[in-house]
Amino acid sequence: MTALSLAICGCATQKNGNPLLSEFDTPYGIAPFSKITIDNYREGMLRGMEEQKAEIEAMIDNSEEPTFENTIVALDRSGKLLSRVRGTFSPISSSNSTEEMRALQKEMSPLFSAHNDDIYLNERLFARVKAVYDNKQALNLTAEQKKILENIYDRFVNSGAELSDTDKARLRELNKEISMLQLEFSQNLLYETNNTFVVANSIDELKGLSQANIDAAAKMAEANGEPGKWMFNMQRPSCNPVLQYCENRELRRKVYEAYYNRGNQGNEYDSKEICARLVALRLEKAKLMGYNNYAEMALENRMASTPAAVYDLLMQVWGPAVAKAKEELDDIRAEIRKEGDDFEPEGWDYMYYLDKAKRAKFAVDEEEICQYLEINNVMQGIFHVANKLYGITFKEITGDIPAYEPTAKAYEVIDKDGTTLAIFYSDYFPRESKRAGAWCTSFRPQRYENGKRIIPIVVNSCNMTLPNSEGYALQSIDNVETMFHEFGHALHNFMRDVQYSSASGVERDFVELPSQKNEHWAFEPEVLEVYAKHYKTGETIPMELLKKIQESAKYGQGFATVEYIAASLSDMDLHVLTEIPAGLNVMEFEAEKLAERGIPSQILPRYRMTNFSHTMGGGYTAGYYSYMWAEVLDADAFDAFKETGDIFNHEIAERFRKYVLTPGGIDDGMIMYRNFRGRDPKTDALLRNRGL
Ligand SMILES: [Zn+2]
Repeated sequence: MTALSLAICGCATQKNGNPLLSEFDTPYGIAPFSKITIDNYREGMLRGMEEQKAEIEAMIDNSEEPTFENTIVALDRSGKLLSRVRGTFSPISSSNSTEEMRALQKEMSPLFSAHNDDIYLNERLFARVKAVYDNKQALNLTAEQKKILENIYDRFVNSGAELSDTDKARLRELNKEISMLQLEFSQNLLYETNNTFVVANSIDELKGLSQANIDAAAKMAEANGEPGKWMFNMQRPSCNPVLQYCENRELRRKVYEAYYNRGNQGNEYDSKEICARLVALRLEKAKLMGYNNYAEMALENRMASTPAAVYDLLMQVWGPAVAKAKEELDDIRAEIRKEGDDFEPEGWDYMYYLDKAKRAKFAVDEEEICQYLEINNVMQGIFHVANKLYGITFKEITGDIPAYEPTAKAYEVIDKDGTTLAIFYSDYFPRESKRAGAWCTSFRPQRYENGKRIIPIVVNSCNMTLPNSEGYALQSIDNVETMFHEFGHALHNFMRDVQYSSASGVERDFVELPSQKNEHWAFEPEVLEVYAKHYKTGETIPMELLKKIQESAKYGQGFATVEYIAASLSDMDLHVLTEIPAGLNVMEFEAEKLAERGIPSQILPRYRMTNFSHTMGGGYTAGYYSYMWAEVLDADAFDAFKETGDIFNHEIAERFRKYVLTPGGIDDGMIMYRNFRGRDPKTDALLRNRGL
């Protein structure tokens, strides 16, 4: 590893020509993506770790008494190079991953794990942190300073700083193996999503699909050496239309089974064993840290606090949701009979006949609605809402700006006082190198440097429906909701304003509040009138169609709620285990538990364990429930606007910005929510919204 021996100084940077090693000399300090090679990333990460290690050594060797400045602030500010390199590498590795990048991720994963442990299991460093922490009453700190002191102290304790040497050594091994397995899981899933194909040999099998979907499938077949056929992969824009619209029951079955069996095909990308091993290692870690199970440990620093509180919320909604799903199944059976058939519906019939039932009940035609949901128009609607609420504006940057992907667009986000608040990238379309799903991330989070606010660079990355042959990307209602959702995360990132990085994070089950809250505006009549324009004629969506969207919005919530709660329960069930059953098969375990709770056989968890990246890839482990936890808050928060009769009520929006979006994590989520609302959240808005 020659990179480690390079001198850490500016000259080496210049000679070396690695753009990651110095501040980016580009507009807005955006990474010069096209100039960064894989070796640059490797060198940057290795040197970043070295640099931070040296900073930590200097802190420990400091002969002065530990103070807030020389210990807590110094820690908060350390690792600048590493943050810059990882801040660039990490988003790219999700949305523009190459084989080289995946190999580098694998190479780095154990090193990062060890690096992290070198910091948080360092006894001399912890002794200094503890000295400051024990003296905190005498320090006269601001609220934010107090919070980062607590956060940093907690992070040491939660990382095992108080364990014996033997336990620390075991913990290091566990951390390393867990991070490796999570990465392997994610890489398997990416491969399976893009490379599991269902092929149709005859156009007769495609009846019911739109011409755009048929064209896309033909293109995919051609690209994969099967010209003249039609292929679907397991990205939602490719496989969902089959489940929803395709008349051919056999093709629907093939797609359905392939989709839910990603990671469970007995091939080299099968993740069943990885899942079982992960669950066992996480439990061992939790026990080492003094907890009964992993969920207890994960929940300690979240709003929900205990597994019991999570089950309580989920089970409150489970009963009404299953009842609703059974009503929907009756509608589905009626639709099947209408067509002169008499079979019992299966999982692959659900979306298809539910869509028919919806059309019959509300006379809605999703495909007709899609014509009013062209992606650029939707974008304008999203910007309009943000402008009406917060007074911020958006200017597309078209000139010389580093682009990591030609179809991504960049915007300057301008605050109401004219200052630049953030840079926003929208990267909406699928490609092979992009992982499935939708997410918000940043190349650079907001921070302060020498008293100056460094603006965040935020990305929304999604897998929306691609443009049709005429160049128009027409979206489904679900996709539009997703765009509003991810933009809600982006707003949180734009507006955060904290002095210290260690104060920027919020509780896992608070994260979805800003995003889900933003969804509430998507289909309000005042908003649809602005953006829902016919892609060809520019005509505004007719009142009648708009009403239908509103009326039908709650239809299908039985299915949506059951599949979501089922996944949340499976995530919890595996992580409240206090002992791992011999030869644990996660798929069987999940199915048994859900059957005990009376899940209708036609509904599977939204993600089955081998394709459940939230929990097995890390990030939302024992945390998938967070969406519903936050939904209690977002539904109640939107009510605050509704109650005034003005969904753009400026005063309420300002309160939301001030108490929820701006403070980062300087307070507990529930305290911030109460500051905004003036009271505790109530669950009735959630049930009402879901029509349960
Ligand atoms: Zn989200």
